[in-house]
Amino acid sequence: MASEELKKVFDAEEASLLVKELRDTFATGRTRSYEWRISQLKALLKLTDNHEQEIADALNSDLCKPQLESVVYEIAMLKSSCKAALKELKHWMTPEKVKTSITTFPSSAEIVPEPLGVVLVISAWNYPFLLSLDPVIGAIAAGNAVVLKPSEIAPVTSSLLEKLLRDYMDCSCIKVVEGAVAETSALLEQKWDKIFYTGNGRVGRIVMAAAAKHLTPVVLELGGKSPVVVDSDINLQVATRRILAGKWCFNNGQACIAPDYIITTKDYAPKLVDALKNELENFYGKNPLESKDLSRIVNSNHFARLTKLLDEDKVSGKIVHGGEKDESKLRIAPTILLDVPRDSLIMNEEIFGPLLPILTVDKVEESFDVINSGAKPLAAYVFTNNKKLKERFVMSVSAGGLVVNDTNIHLAVHTLPFGGVGESGVGAYHGKFSFDAFSHKKAVLYRSFVGDASLRYPPYTNGKLKLLKVLMQGGGLLAIIRALFGWSKV
Ligand code: NAD
Repeated sequence: MASEELKKVFDAEEASLLVKELRDTFATGRTRSYEWRISQLKALLKLTDNHEQEIADALNSDLCKPQLESVVYEIAMLKSSCKAALKELKHWMTPEKVKTSITTFPSSAEIVPEPLGVVLVISAWNYPFLLSLDPVIGAIAAGNAVVLKPSEIAPVTSSLLEKLLRDYMDCSCIKVVEGAVAETSALLEQKWDKIFYTGNGRVGRIVMAAAAKHLTPVVLELGGKSPVVVDSDINLQVATRRILAGKWCFNNGQACIAPDYIITTKDYAPKLVDALKNELENFYGKNPLESKDLSRIVNSNHFARLTKLLDEDKVSGKIVHGGEKDESKLRIAPTILLDVPRDSLIMNEEIFGPLLPILTVDKVEESFDVINSGAKPLAAYVFTNNKKLKERFVMSVSAGGLVVNDTNIHLAVHTLPFGGVGESGVGAYHGKFSFDAFSHKKAVLYRSFVGDASLRYPPYTNGKLKLLKVLMQGGGLLAIIRALFGWSKV
């Protein structure tokens, strides 16, 4: 085969050249100006506006994602994020004046946000448009050069992203590298100023280990088992619809914050199961495998993974609704399971699909111990009207984010940070938190040549020591006077 016929591989050498090119451009200061940042955010908005249908078609091709879900949860969410950045950028970029202390008197101080430099964004397949570009908004807003590596598991969206970013964005500072493990590994060998990774915890560990070699900071947006606690004093229909919306109306359960399992009381479980069944039929009809309003399972590997969870001996008999599958179309119906054993596979890994187990407890308060006995989830939800229970939930459950009486929608609130804790992630983004994730907060102290007290200079004396101690401990005027006159006890 002639060498020109060989497809050029993106290896570590290529990756190193790419990073060098971006470092050179960054060094020119091109990405730092407010005008450049605004122009790139506007370009991102424009590409999203101009290609809405193409984007929705790509998502449909990769995931059979319903048009409404693509438009609302990927395209509109991205636009809203972009518009918020455009509106707030000046304010975010403005240095923040802060107080100084008596020890540096006279002085003034401020915190100056500065771009980190050249950053890498590695994205996942389940919201392949939003999860690729939302971090890029933060990277651009903060004035960085950026490489985006979309997920190869959503290949149509990945190549569309490559094409659109090449057509609309400043390619000297914003690049897309498509590919899978080999290409990502080549990128991870390089020195970056930040790596922003969205995906599972196993690869999260690989990313963090690669970053550690260069002391590169990371944001890891991971997943986990997000629980839903259901009390009995609720509006059952509203609660049920909101649980279903969070689970199946978000990419058929393939969402990082989708309800993973429910905990309710033994007494309330039958009522809840009936309500879930009814509403599921209202949503998806009698044959959900044929519903156009449900995404498919992304690929046969994930189909096999979910089938394994369902087929485990101690679990398969616990299905109280659904369970139908069509392997040829990669479809699994919304499935509810009741009282699955805690040591089953389905209760020990993130489900990330249309299966919803329900655990039962004697008293709803016991739910919190069940949640806290596992790894910290990305999200946790409670449905209750009980004020005390809400308070206990907020105070005792540790998760990336909590929602009381709804599911998932906290991710649409730009003023809230979005990210995990413990096993569900490191760092956060959205709104100003995205800007902060890609900025260094530079501490700047301004002094003049006046007020040059000899206090801190040798020769050191007891008097100087006493006065400095009082000053360092934040002593008041009286304490300072005492120290000056040698009356203090220190
Ligand atoms: P994925 O398979 O698309 O992988 C994510 C990225 O990692 C891809 O770009 C892929 O190329 C890269 N990758 C895969 N294997 C690699 C390796 N060995 N070395 C280097 N890079 C590698 O996505 P996924 O991990 O299946 O995504 C699902 C997971 O992501 C779930 O756990 C979900 O909860 C989590 N998730 C989290 C968020 C969030 O915002 N916190 C959002 C979406 C998904």
